Amino acid sequence: MVEKQIAARGVKDPRVLDAMRRIPRHRFMPTDSQARAYGDHPMAIGYGQTISQPYMVGLMTEALELHGDERILEIGTGSGYQSAILSHLTNYVYTIEIIEPLFHETDSLYDQLETRYPGYKNIHRKLGDGFYGWEKYAPFDRIIVTCAVDHLPPPLIQQLTPNGIMVVPLGPPARQYIMKVERVTDEKGAVTLKRTDVYNGVSVKFIPFRNDQGKSYSSQGE
Ligand code: SAH
Repeated sequence: MVEKQIAARGVKDPRVLDAMRRIPRHRFMPTDSQARAYGDHPMAIGYGQTISQPYMVGLMTEALELHGDERILEIGTGSGYQSAILSHLTNYVYTIEIIEPLFHETDSLYDQLETRYPGYKNIHRKLGDGFYGWEKYAPFDRIIVTCAVDHLPPPLIQQLTPNGIMVVPLGPPARQYIMKVERVTDEKGAVTLKRTDVYNGVSVKFIPFRNDQGKSYSSQGE
């Protein structure tokens, strides 16, 4: 999977590739689809949610530029696969999931896997609405949003460190672009957001960033 689908398509960060070689992706997928876990396609993870294909996970993870001591917040724990990768790349992982049964399933999966993969103990998990971030542990050096939104949630910008990076699928419900948003703070303290499309203008379709009533945060939301 890593050589053919991820490295061959341009993901270079050796730490990201190494983490993706080590993580047992099938363990994070529903039992009846584990045999397909390493294929080049998104997968259903239950409760109407999906996880991106491995390449997209690699691309977004690389864009986070993790070196090992960053505090990272993930919005949308889902299957837990993305945060498992993050826990190989840094010691401080915080993740929020809004769908209660999915949160509990993934929480107990981590409890089971912790004996074999002690790094998962570093994944702090919360049931809640990620739109508001996680004030208690803010600020974060990095934030990754794994659901689609058409504007940057202001609380997440506020919870980013002065030179922090956020990676987010940004755009209306029909299509988004994978944006790397760097919070750049000049010597006078003025903040600008520098945006780069890390997928070279190719659009993607992520599942919506929703509130606890199940409504999308995007203005044209379903
Ligand atoms: N990172 C996940 C991808 C899951 S898909 C993985 O590795 O499997 C995106 C997830 O975002 C879904 O589980 C969905 O329930 C969740 N989500 C949507 N809106 C959210 C919100 N406001 N707060 C937290 N999670 C949210």
